[in-house]
Amino acid sequence: MTQTTSRQQFIGKLSASLHQLREDGLYKPERVLSSRQGAVVTCDDGRQLINLCANNYLGLSGDDSMVQASIDATREFGYGLSSVRFICGTQTVHKQLEKAIAGFVGTEDCILYAAAFDANGGVFEPLFDENDAIISDALNHASIIDGIRLCKATRYRYAHNDMADLETQLKAAADKRHRIIVTDGVFSMDGTIAQLDRICDLADQYDALVMIDECHASGFMGATGRGTHEYHNVMGRIDIITGTLGKALGGAMGGFTAARKEVIDTLRQKSRPYLFSNTLAPSITGASLSVLQRLSASTELRDRLHANTAHFRREIAALGFTIKPGTHPVVPVMLFDAPVAQKFAARLYELGVLVTGFFYPVVPMGQARVRVQLSAAHSIEQLNTALAAFAQAGRELSLIKQI
Ligand SMILES: *Cc1c(COP(=O)(O)O)cnc(C)c1O
Repeated sequence: MTQTTSRQQFIGKLSASLHQLREDGLYKPERVLSSRQGAVVTCDDGRQLINLCANNYLGLSGDDSMVQASIDATREFGYGLSSVRFICGTQTVHKQLEKAIAGFVGTEDCILYAAAFDANGGVFEPLFDENDAIISDALNHASIIDGIRLCKATRYRYAHNDMADLETQLKAAADKRHRIIVTDGVFSMDGTIAQLDRICDLADQYDALVMIDECHASGFMGATGRGTHEYHNVMGRIDIITGTLGKALGGAMGGFTAARKEVIDTLRQKSRPYLFSNTLAPSITGASLSVLQRLSASTELRDRLHANTAHFRREIAALGFTIKPGTHPVVPVMLFDAPVAQKFAARLYELGVLVTGFFYPVVPMGQARVRVQLSAAHSIEQLNTALAAFAQAGRELSLIKQI
C-alpha cells in the first residue's frame, strides 16, 4: 500500500488551487516583452504594440537619458554595496537623492527603501502602538494594509473616499493617543483622486495626522508635479508621504518615505525593511536623482502627459465609450461584463494595442473594464491609432454604434 506523504499532499493541494484559478479565469499569465518599456513595445511573439498599460507616466522607463544616467552612476559608484544602509551602504548619491525627494515633495527629510511596498510595510510599526489609531480608506493599496497589520495600533476603516464615514471613524477613535488618516493619493483602479483638502480639514478638526501614498501621483499630479497634495493645495499639511521610484519617477524600482526629520530619524533607527534589507543600487539611485533634477527644472513631461490624457479622454468618450470621468492618466473604459472585457482586450491585442482587462475580484462585480494608462511618451499619432483600434473592436463587439 502506498501512502501519500505530506509533501505530496502539499504539492497536490497547490496544483488543485492553481487549476481552480485557471477554471475561474483568475489565473494571471505574464506577458513577455523582448524590447524596452515604452510607448511601443515588442512582445516575444514578435508583435509590436502600442502600450497603454504601463505605469510609465512620464515615459522615462525605456528612455536613453535614463539608461545613460544609470550607466554614469554605475561607473562612478559601482554595481552595488553588499550592505544595508547603516553599516557601509550609504553613498553620497543616496544622501543627495533623499534630499532631492524631500525638496520635491516639500518635507524636511526622506528615507529610501527597496520598494514602496517596503516603505508602507515599514512605516507604521516604528511610529505607532496599541495606544494609537490608524484610520484607513477601504480601498488602500495592499502594502498599506500589510503595513498596518504589522503594527499594534487599532485599525479603523472608512468607506472608500467617503468623508462622512471618515468623520464617524475619527469620532470613534477620539480616545486614542494619536490618530493618523491614511489614503492613497490616487487610487489606481479608477484614477480617483483622494479629497485631500477635506481630509486635511477633518484632520485639523479631530486632531489627527495625515499620510498619503503617492505612487500614482509623484512626478505629475499638481501644477509642478509634486503630487496630490500640490493638486489639492495642501502642501505642508501632510505628515507622511510614501512613494515609488518604480512608476513615473524613472520606472526601475525603489521607494521612499518623506516627512519631518524626527519621523525619518525614527524610521532609520527602527524600520525593519530599512534596517534588514540591502541598500538601493547606485544605478537606480543616481538615475532617480537625475529625474528629480529634470522635473524640478521643467514641467514639460508632466504637461505632455496631461495633454495626452485630455486628448484620449475626449476622443474615447466621443466614440461612445463609457469612461470614469476625471483628469488622471488612468482612464477606466467601462465594459461592465467580465467576458466582454476579456474579449475586448484580446481583440485590441490583435489590432496592435496592449491593454489589460480587469474584472471581479480586482474590481467590484459588474464593473469590468479595460484600464488605459497614458504616458508622456505617447505621440498623438500613436494615440489616434489606438483610438481607431478601440473604435473597430468596439463596433465588432457591438459596444458602440456602427457607422
Ligand atoms: C505600485 C504601488 C505600490 C508599490 O510600489 P513598489 O515601489 O512597486 O513596491 C504601493 N502603493 C501604491 C498605491 C501603488 O500603486
